[in-house]
Amino acid sequence: MLGGEVLTEAICTMQTEPIPRLTTLLGRGARKKCPHCGKGPLFRRWVELHDRCSVCGIKYLENEGDLWGYLLIADRALFILPLVAMIYFQLYNPNSFWFFVFAGTVLIGFIFTLPHRTGMSLAIDYYMRRKSSDLSDPSSDKPD
Ligand SMILES: [Zn+2]
Repeated sequence: MLGGEVLTEAICTMQTEPIPRLTTLLGRGARKKCPHCGKGPLFRRWVELHDRCSVCGIKYLENEGDLWGYLLIADRALFILPLVAMIYFQLYNPNSFWFFVFAGTVLIGFIFTLPHRTGMSLAIDYYMRRKSSDLSDPSSDKPD
């Protein structure tokens, strides 16, 4: 029983390259680069995602909405929490100067880092897919 499992795993390992470290993937995501090769750009425009990497041909999102959706929600939630806290703060301190400074800073930070965080979410999605070896063969359908 065990022998068969080990063999299957060995074949899988031979077929695919080693999975890059998660920190490497996150770094590529933060730099808005393809998580697979680290070269191809992720975005066409601001946060408009390419379908595939222009360098290695990997499809960025296999099942759009699966894990990806949860990652984006978690990502947004991290920014919504301070906003909710700020609204409560504002109720007790109306017309506070610092409220507007803080709210503005969070909002600008949220908008400015959006593509970087989207890239990192994509890197996590890629990592999970590699871990579960649910990744379409990138060599089978390269862009022309
Ligand atoms: Zn690539």
